[in-house]
Amino acid sequence: MSPSKKVDPRLLSPLLLVHINQLLTLCSNKPGPRRAAALKELGVIEDAAVLCIGGKIVSAGKTKDALSDPWLKKNRSKVTEIDCAGKVVLPGFVDSHTHPAFISPRLVDFEKRIAGATYEEIAEAGGGIRSSVEAVRRAEKKHLAEKVLSGLQEMSAHGTTTVEAKSGYGLSLESEIKSLEAIRDAANHWPGTVVPTLLGAHVVPKEFKKNPQKYVDVICQQMIPQAAKRKLAKFVDVFCDKGAFTAEDTERIFAAATKNGLAVRVHVCQLSETVLWPLLRFHPASFDHMDHVNDDDIPQLAKRDTVATLVPGANYFLGLKNYPPARRLIDAGVPVALATDYNPGSSPTPAMPFVLSLACTHMKMSPEEAIAAATMNGAWSVGLQDRKGSIEPGKDADLAIFDAKDYREIPYWFGVNRCEVTVLNGEKIGRGNSPAKI
Ligand SMILES: [Zn+2]
Repeated sequence: MSPSKKVDPRLLSPLLLVHINQLLTLCSNKPGPRRAAALKELGVIEDAAVLCIGGKIVSAGKTKDALSDPWLKKNRSKVTEIDCAGKVVLPGFVDSHTHPAFISPRLVDFEKRIAGATYEEIAEAGGGIRSSVEAVRRAEKKHLAEKVLSGLQEMSAHGTTTVEAKSGYGLSLESEIKSLEAIRDAANHWPGTVVPTLLGAHVVPKEFKKNPQKYVDVICQQMIPQAAKRKLAKFVDVFCDKGAFTAEDTERIFAAATKNGLAVRVHVCQLSETVLWPLLRFHPASFDHMDHVNDDDIPQLAKRDTVATLVPGANYFLGLKNYPPARRLIDAGVPVALATDYNPGSSPTPAMPFVLSLACTHMKMSPEEAIAAATMNGAWSVGLQDRKGSIEPGKDADLAIFDAKDYREIPYWFGVNRCEVTVLNGEKIGRGNSPAKI
């Protein structure tokens, strides 16, 4: 792999951000993922400073308080300082739903869909998920890892510091494990944090079309135990929807995951209404998509910590009229997160700010709600709420510096990258073509 291995955060020089116009700490006294009115609390501090040492946040508060700190006074010459006057600083985005283990864009799908072709017609023309699967099966692991890494780098250029990364275009024991190894290898070359997920249950591969249960057996008896034993995945995911896997299949797969010590998350209600209650006993970290959620399920979800992860990039790219019902979910008290769903078929975007923009314009989330959903609630959705999602002492030094005076500009501008610097576990990465003032 070309770029060098990541640096041990303990060896990084201390980093001080000063004169931040608006620092969004996302701190809150309320326990659990953010819901209802608490989703609007950004914990804004003006003329703020953040000090990071050894990849961790040490302090966050007013600039004048930071500069009068005795340790800083003595050690200022050893500290890398970034003047953030006129900038917004927020926790790095937690992109809690991505499919980066693919080889090529799906341009046949794109063109055919524009021309009005159906899903079946696209598949017949050599497009669809099958084309991604054939390419991943043929690919060398190193090549696949380089593809994953380039996706991660594009994400961090837009302010993302933690990524949940799924396999799911291998659909055989060998190729799913190869995909998870590629995700691991890419993660070892990227300074951010990657949460790997086994999505062997993406669709039934063609060789098992006549006997899908046999494929569920492969997932439960081979893929899950191997991924768990080799610590290649933290989560197991299932595409539980029309044309993919049933609720019964999902329960079987979740039971195998639980038995092997892996947590679960699930694609639901994207194409049709999914019955959610049989899945709740497995305490899924996240229900993802949720376009067609049943009204009766919403009050049940409001009582739980399972996060509803909404991915409006897919609705945008597929040209759908309807978007996930964010207002109904938020107003009822369901914790909501936002993610890119980065994938070659339905959401080829690495950019969280664009997803925030869609959330505001098409789902009527406020800028405050969109930001909290993309940071703190994303962290909850991947089980990293103790380390990620807010800027407070002891948490990982994951920050995004935006060329904006006001945080509402983050979802306001679209089609342009206003993220100037991203700090991932204390390591700062500037935007290639921006005049770096570091
Ligand atoms: Zn997905």
